[in-house]
Amino acid sequence: MMNIPFSPPFIDEDVIDEVLHTLRSNWITTGPKVVALEQQIVKLTASDAAICVNSWTSGAILMLKWFGVKAGDEVIVPAYTYAATALSVLHCGATPVMVDVNADYSISANEVRKAITPKTKAIIAVDIAGWPCDYDALNAIINESEITGLFVAESFKQSLLNRILLISDAAHSIGAKFGAGAAAKKSDITIFSFHAVKNITTAEGGCICLNLPQQFDTAAEYKYLKMYTLNGQTKDAFSKSQGGGWKYDILFQGLKINMPDICAAIGLAQIKKYESQLLPSRKQIALKYCDGFKAMDWFIAPPLTDEQRESSYHLFPLRIKNITETQRDQIIELITAKGVAVNVHFIPMPMLTYFKNLGYHIVDYPMAYQQYACEISLPIYPQLTDEEVAYIIEAVISAVEKQRAENTEIAAYHKQEPAGISF
Ligand SMILES: *Cc1c(COP(=O)(O)O)cnc(C)c1O
Repeated sequence: MMNIPFSPPFIDEDVIDEVLHTLRSNWITTGPKVVALEQQIVKLTASDAAICVNSWTSGAILMLKWFGVKAGDEVIVPAYTYAATALSVLHCGATPVMVDVNADYSISANEVRKAITPKTKAIIAVDIAGWPCDYDALNAIINESEITGLFVAESFKQSLLNRILLISDAAHSIGAKFGAGAAAKKSDITIFSFHAVKNITTAEGGCICLNLPQQFDTAAEYKYLKMYTLNGQTKDAFSKSQGGGWKYDILFQGLKINMPDICAAIGLAQIKKYESQLLPSRKQIALKYCDGFKAMDWFIAPPLTDEQRESSYHLFPLRIKNITETQRDQIIELITAKGVAVNVHFIPMPMLTYFKNLGYHIVDYPMAYQQYACEISLPIYPQLTDEEVAYIIEAVISAVEKQRAENTEIAAYHKQEPAGISF
């Protein structure tokens, strides 16, 4: 029996060398490696600027605070995402307004439009599994005169933008394409996660890409945001460590969320081979899965490409037709018994205790529930071998078939009860 983990980090000799180089350099916190990683991200996405931080979550809190989001404000988020999307809003004292998703997991533009009020300051769209949201539809909505007319500017940045801010939760979607360029170009602010399981990792980390309208001075915003990640201090520790650089000032109440060089080194070695090696091997695995399952009448393929978009192949969210949540869980047990680690992305936020207690109900998000109930995320990462992929396909097919056969048997025994309900 094979034993296949769900998502081990990609650590090769180049990653190890880059980290060792940092260790031997005598400089381990924010410094030249972070700047080099930011430059690689600007190159990959053609963004106007990139600021590395210590997580997606802290990056989102930073950008909401930067925009002046506070108690009494609303930020629209999808119900179907990882909890950090909504928690970042709550950390600023504002209210996450959850809306339902489309059949391709992306936030529903129609539902977004209905949820907008004079309190709405921002929308956080989430590229689930690496599949970009319909950013053309979202941008059209936030620029409609009926919608801009509702916007109440209450901070300097808000009056400069004079409309709802579009943030992309791109925790999954580094390298995803939209039209001629990177999907990251489609939002005012795009935030990547470099958590250990993501396509590029720094163990923990994140990066904020700025693609603000022209009335913003991006170079000035970059400098300001760098200070914001360092207690509002005018000089980082690296510049202070240089001769004669001891003097500094604190200009405002910043956060302390900078990325250390020792972490940046891991991501730097990975991003250098991301487009040439790591991303293409993820894509190949996704295509092998599609090929392996295409003959199965129960297979629902994940969205990977269309005329405009291409995924970053972060997850392979397999969906199985006409099954209940309980049946999905049984299939997961059967796959796990074969030594294959799988996952579910995501348990919709309204099903989690904290959000239930805040008054969110899953019955209000039928599509989010439907997507969750039949979903199983399969392993997808560059280190997976052809043999392992073939083994996973086989394990999944036999698990689904075994579960179906058991179900048919029980249904036959109970005669009057139709197959497909959960017992
Ligand atoms: C991983 C993830 C996050 C959080 O990223 P951190 O870097 O761990 O803060 C946010 N949103 C989504 C969709 C994620 O998958």
